[in-house]
Amino acid sequence: MGKMENKKEKVECKTLEKLREKKKLTPSEIQFISSIAKETLKFLARNNIPLVPENYLLWFEIFCYILENDLKLSDLEIMGLFKTRYPDIKEIENVLVELEPENEELLHRIVAGITEEIEDLIHTLDGHQISLKQKEDSVKRIKDSIKDASVKDVLAFVITELQAIRAQNNELKKKLEESNEQIKKLTKELEKSKREATTDFLTQVANRASFDRALSDMVKDFYNRNYPFALLMIDIDDFKKINDTYGHQAGDYVLRELAKLIKQQLRARDIIARYGGEEFAILLPGVTFSQAVKIAERIRKSVEKHLFRYRDTDIPVTISVGVAVMRDGLDEVSLVEKADNALYLAKRSGKNQVKTDLDVELEE
Ligand code: GH3
Ligand code: MG
Ligand code: MG
Repeated sequence: MGKMENKKEKVECKTLEKLREKKKLTPSEIQFISSIAKETLKFLARNNIPLVPENYLLWFEIFCYILENDLKLSDLEIMGLFKTRYPDIKEIENVLVELEPENEELLHRIVAGITEEIEDLIHTLDGHQISLKQKEDSVKRIKDSIKDASVKDVLAFVITELQAIRAQNNELKKKLEESNEQIKKLTKELEKSKREATTDFLTQVANRASFDRALSDMVKDFYNRNYPFALLMIDIDDFKKINDTYGHQAGDYVLRELAKLIKQQLRARDIIARYGGEEFAILLPGVTFSQAVKIAERIRKSVEKHLFRYRDTDIPVTISVGVAVMRDGLDEVSLVEKADNALYLAKRSGKNQVKTDLDVELEE
């Protein structure tokens, strides 16, 4: 009971801090994390606490503290520690907390460790079951060869016990397998909801919200370390006519195919987003004015050449492009405005062409 004096001490986990810093972990640190995960998992299973991601993080911290300080605590004392650490959580079996985004990646790393741990445990359990069965068989053989009735009784009891342990293990294995499936499902759902929040559903490129975030990052980068970037605004020519002539489904196909075609031509660091209905925006980091114009022209030509074919019908597609590069004095709004003005100039000049912020200035 003396260990409960630790109650006054702050529950801290140095390992979690290391994980947060995203430094490369040493093999012994990884091993330590895996043993924390193992203890956490055993405790949760033992106490019927749901194996949901939200719980891992909370309990991982508790077990990290216990292992780092080499404490020997009973389950009841551990529950007490949990209540001290999270006084606001009333029901241990029914925790519902919202994950902060910065904790999500942390959770992923812990969950990956736990999944591996469960698989290991299942594996070990299988080996355990085989050796139990062998023991049971050999006890049966001995029992059959023995005449003494009282010894026979004892051995019969041992056999029943061994059978009970095997049944329990099977039950545990089933539970572990179910938990593992649940964890994998939850992890997938977590990833899916994250993807949906940043991706345009129809074209599977970045959505407007993630474009705005990326643009703001690049503007900051430009002012902090003078890192250049360019913005292309792309609008499909006479898209209304495409919808009217070939149908809305064909229009959707053109949007998907166009996004795919453009994405193929970009570098990993470039960002393409669906900016509006039939408008796309592209951010090109580290690119000068003349490079941006070349890239825009290459994309425009590739669209003009590309065969858009929907249900045995060829659909002619062209795009107009407005180019603007980041310059001193501009911000997110004024840069987009410049690219937009260039795009309208391209439309006014007859569509299927590239115009720039400089072209607009020359016009005025
Ligand atoms: P312009 O060459 O001047 O750009 O003419 P436009 O017809 O392309 O431009 P307008 O803005 O008049 O029409 C855009 C059309 O895009 C209207 C709208 O119905 C269609 N649109 C917007 N979003 C979608 C979509 O998700 N799927 C389909 N199929 N059509 C869409
Ligand atoms: Mg438009
Ligand atoms: Mg259009």
